[in-house]
Amino acid sequence: MKEIQFDAIVAAVRQMCIRGCTLADPRLLELLAAARRGEDNELADTILGQIEENARIAAGGGDESQRRPLCQDTGLAVFFVETGSDVRIVGGELTDAINRGVAQGYRDGYLRKSVVGDPVRRANTGDNTPAIVHLRLVSGDGLRIRYAAKGGGSENMSRIAMLKPADGIEGVKDFVVNAVAEAGGNPCPPLVVGVGIGGDFEQCAILAKESLFRPLGDPSGDEFYAGVESELLGRINSLGIGPMGLGGSTTALAVHVLTAACHIASLPVAVNLNCHSSRHEEVRL
Ligand code: SF4
Repeated sequence: MKEIQFDAIVAAVRQMCIRGCTLADPRLLELLAAARRGEDNELADTILGQIEENARIAAGGGDESQRRPLCQDTGLAVFFVETGSDVRIVGGELTDAINRGVAQGYRDGYLRKSVVGDPVRRANTGDNTPAIVHLRLVSGDGLRIRYAAKGGGSENMSRIAMLKPADGIEGVKDFVVNAVAEAGGNPCPPLVVGVGIGGDFEQCAILAKESLFRPLGDPSGDEFYAGVESELLGRINSLGIGPMGLGGSTTALAVHVLTAACHIASLPVAVNLNCHSSRHEEVRL
């Protein structure tokens, strides 16, 4: 049995929040640069260049004390956690450690606190907690924590549908493309489009969210779904929405599909969009 100290988890999560909200994913920068090379629209190219410049400024020129958030919306703190069956947390509970780390990270990193404790009465909790935590028990003695700062603008454009099996993969593709078309400029494109297919109502939404944690632009390991991703990316970039919704051929940088088994009478599909401020971090303890 491996013991992991409560305080070590707090410290790791604190650091993930600060790093994730201030340092752009190198893969995102690669995809932006590739998009610029293929972008004919002058305004779109200018906006993509501004997103790159924003990332440089946020990084503080390599000086940690000069780092700034990539976006004012530093999001809900979302975690996917895999905890080994041979792991024991010493000194407290895992979700408490995560929430404490979030509170410290958002305080010390001067990140905006974006959580209200009640969805209707809307008083800010003041420390960006509670986090959204998806826990999974796995074998072994490792603890894997993945974090995303999920902005409200892109999250609000999420869509889910319980299609009929007869709708098939073409029905799924049409649903995804329509969801992006209806979202327009609201989710701050260029996007990473997360797609969940299968499971039941709630698992499908979680699949779409978890797909966004895949290394940016890596295709699905399933050749069939890699083809679906490629076709969807082409169709989405033909919509003409473009960076920040102002036109061009760069509406999305990547499409990630994640699937699960489902009921014989169901074909659930969910779309979870990530804006160009795609912020993810991972740590293993
Ligand atoms: S959708 Fe993304 S880029 Fe737009 S305001 Fe929210 S976090 Fe920022």
